[in-house]
Amino acid sequence: MTDIIQLLPDHVANQIAAGEVVQRPASVVKELLENAIDAGADDIKLIIKEAGKTLVQVIDNGKGMSVTDARLSFERHATSKIKSAEDLFQLNTKGFRGEALASIAAIAHVELKTKRPDDELGTAIEIEGSVVKSQEVTVTPTGTSVAVKNLFFNIPARRNFLKSDTVELRHITDEFHRVALAHPGIAFAFYHNGSELFNVPNENYRQRVVHIFGNKTNERLVPVEEDTEVLKISGFVGKPEYSKKTRSEQFFFVNQRFIKSPYLNHAISAAFEGLLKDGYHASYFLNLTVDPKTIDINIHPTKTEIKFDDEHTLYAILRSAVKHSLGQFNIAPVLDFEQQSSFDTPYSYKDKAGKVPTIEVDRSFNPFADEGSSSGSSSSSKSTSTTTSFKTAPAANWESLYVGLESKSNTKHDNDVELSFEKEYKTETIFSDASVETSKTTFQLQQKYIVSTLKSGMLIVDQNRAHQRVLYESFLKHITIKEATSQQLLFPLQLSFTPNEMNIISGLKEDLEHTGFVFSNVKEDTITITGVPVGVPESEVSIILEQLISDVENDVPDASFSAADLLAKSMAKSLAIKNGQTLNNTEQEHLVNSLFACKEPNISPANRPTFITMSTDDIEKKFM
Ligand code: ADP
Ligand code: MG
Repeated sequence: MTDIIQLLPDHVANQIAAGEVVQRPASVVKELLENAIDAGADDIKLIIKEAGKTLVQVIDNGKGMSVTDARLSFERHATSKIKSAEDLFQLNTKGFRGEALASIAAIAHVELKTKRPDDELGTAIEIEGSVVKSQEVTVTPTGTSVAVKNLFFNIPARRNFLKSDTVELRHITDEFHRVALAHPGIAFAFYHNGSELFNVPNENYRQRVVHIFGNKTNERLVPVEEDTEVLKISGFVGKPEYSKKTRSEQFFFVNQRFIKSPYLNHAISAAFEGLLKDGYHASYFLNLTVDPKTIDINIHPTKTEIKFDDEHTLYAILRSAVKHSLGQFNIAPVLDFEQQSSFDTPYSYKDKAGKVPTIEVDRSFNPFADEGSSSGSSSSSKSTSTTTSFKTAPAANWESLYVGLESKSNTKHDNDVELSFEKEYKTETIFSDASVETSKTTFQLQQKYIVSTLKSGMLIVDQNRAHQRVLYESFLKHITIKEATSQQLLFPLQLSFTPNEMNIISGLKEDLEHTGFVFSNVKEDTITITGVPVGVPESEVSIILEQLISDVENDVPDASFSAADLLAKSMAKSLAIKNGQTLNNTEQEHLVNSLFACKEPNISPANRPTFITMSTDDIEKKFM
């Protein structure tokens, strides 16, 4: 028998490759737009006819190609973007396979015109089904134009497989959106059958998002910014109330490349937990920047999936950054559209006027922690009061937390929605003399809610949930940094438990010690406690431990399960001010103050809202 294996001719190999790279006109759009970006263009036009079935053309003002390069660009595995396999790990370009043009040319009629900036004349090449029809010198502007006509002309099955123009145009528009969103610094225009669908200038990211998704989007955006060694995040999430039933507004860009990542998407869902109605999806437009070495984009032919070295860390950072932003949005005013610099964190107060010079907004400031140590030294009384933690509250200066917001709102335009606090809160006297009796700024409703006025309406805080949040963050901090203060008990406390309960306690012993518990003896069924966290009344100790045990038993450990977290939650639940408890004015203010100093003030540890706001508009509507 003769040998039967043959090498496929190039044009056949190209057609097969094209099957992977080019599924539909939108794939051509993506490849051509990416080539234009890789060529350094800052002005790109996309021209489409009949949803790309008859024409997809991209014109750029990038660096162009030499005569030889123009010809070579249609060869398979011809690329200027990588030279060796190592280069795959430091990609700064969209393309790298050197397959797109060869594939497209195998299944369509392609006309290329290109000129480099320093050349006087350019090159024009026509290819049909991998066959070069003509190549000539031509007059053409600097940059490159690639026109792809009659897609799938030689593969009728594929051509017939294309969907209606509406559907194909939808796919093209999606690709265009992704590319345009990833590159706000590039001007894009998009024409279909002669009419202009988009025309966006070089602009900032917020403007780009708003241009693409409409003016209404502006007020819906919550900025997310995070800068860590492994991951930089910038962009926006949509406020929960504007969440969508579809996932059409979910965008991750990694190093300016659109990607799909169910795992990272989950991080966002986790951050939105408790804030979205069932069946609704968060909107997000997030740019992630990572070291190209830490990702592998080589696993998917059309490159929308990538592999991260350390997905878990990215997940955690992403989730907490988004949570943090959401925690702030309730009190953050809509930021000035024109002012790119104001897209920083809402607590930023870089443009704060010199009026209140000494107030510093410290995001990690936790009044509870300070108070803990001071009350510890002054009176470690075994008071039976359950409000110990608020007794010695210093004059609250929660106004200071809003300083940045206030001054920002002063310089804003009148169409902005405001949620900053009322003017009178930041009168100079509060800061110049702490002992001055401040006018009443809060009151308690049914010993359950703390009500206060906002510039734009009113604020209602759930005292129990708010205090849980404050305590929870404080405990968690103590456990994490391992330096809580504890107060000695006059007489050691002996408590007995079942073996199973003892197991649970032993498992949490170390974390408990970090909150301030001191165990002198842990025997088979009894433990002896000689110290408790500052602010924890002795009478509460057994209740706390029992609550803790039952929480551990009932909590189905999930992904977010951690002993420290559970302990902090449980202790917060046990120790928080209960409903029905009267709070004096200082205590009320201090609680609100402490709440807004939290990292995630808007939800309780159990993910329930801690406060609501009602705008004057809402109130007015009720009177109609
Ligand atoms: P890849 O982008 O993976 O390198 P392509 O087949 O898309 O492969 O392109 C092949 C080569 O042609 C590129 O590496 C680049 O050098 C050149 N090229 C393609 N499009 C352009 C363009 N718009 N401007 C300048 N050079 C281009
Ligand atoms: Mg390419």
